[in-house]
Amino acid sequence: MSSSEEVSWISWFCGLRGNEFFCEVDEDYIQDKFNLTGLNEQVPHYRQALDMILDLEPDEELEDNPNQSDLIEQAAEMLYGLIHARYILTNRGIAQMLEKYQQGDFGYCPRVYCENQPMLPIGKCWRRGRRAADGRSSGKEVGQGGRAWRAEPGYLPGLSDIPGEAMVKLYCPKCMDVYTPKSSRHHHTDGAYFGTGFPHMLFMVHPEYRPKRPANQFVPRWGARQNHQGSQDRPRPPHREGKRGQGPFLSSASPKARALPAEGPCPGEVL
Ligand SMILES: [Zn+2]
Repeated sequence: MSSSEEVSWISWFCGLRGNEFFCEVDEDYIQDKFNLTGLNEQVPHYRQALDMILDLEPDEELEDNPNQSDLIEQAAEMLYGLIHARYILTNRGIAQMLEKYQQGDFGYCPRVYCENQPMLPIGKCWRRGRRAADGRSSGKEVGQGGRAWRAEPGYLPGLSDIPGEAMVKLYCPKCMDVYTPKSSRHHHTDGAYFGTGFPHMLFMVHPEYRPKRPANQFVPRWGARQNHQGSQDRPRPPHREGKRGQGPFLSSASPKARALPAEGPCPGEVL
């Protein structure tokens, strides 16, 4: 770092393999103590870690102790991550992350019907549960296998801002689902360094960038045919009587319609 190229610690850190989701926090933001309120209680070796992030000269004692230096390095990464989570909720931070989002730096949604929708990093937000009297969450994590976790309302975002709880995930604003990053080099990035509220803050500030919900949804063909009593070639029954939009349980529907199951378009034909 002290080479002739004079790369700042922040640029060096953000340029490391696996740190591509981070944006470079303005040093002015870090130098404002108000923005760092409370972090000294969360991060060990806070003072030295902050000096490292800001490229201030370390103590001679620290330079002579490589073991201590490693600890400071780890603390600096944690401190930067927690500062980063706050910074990306500011106008300047949102603008920087928006640029990365538009460039596809966070990857694209793997869902076919999302049609390569860019995604945004998000911290842990998939813990289900209702707000308890003490303000903490109850419940359990869901859907850990396969695709990922579905972001549902009713979460307690506060829990996710604690480092070490979960690795970063990616939020697709089109299908509103959450995915594990494709590359394993992002599987060790703490989700707390992005927070749970970031994508929603971004679209609240810039609603013009919120994509429309996907027009199509996958429906299995095989299952659709099974609904027709297992006969693949059986012609579809005539459309029920009544105006479009009337359900079979409305009083105006004919007795015949009432007897039929809810008949939408054959799911296979939607495709
Ligand atoms: Zn999607």
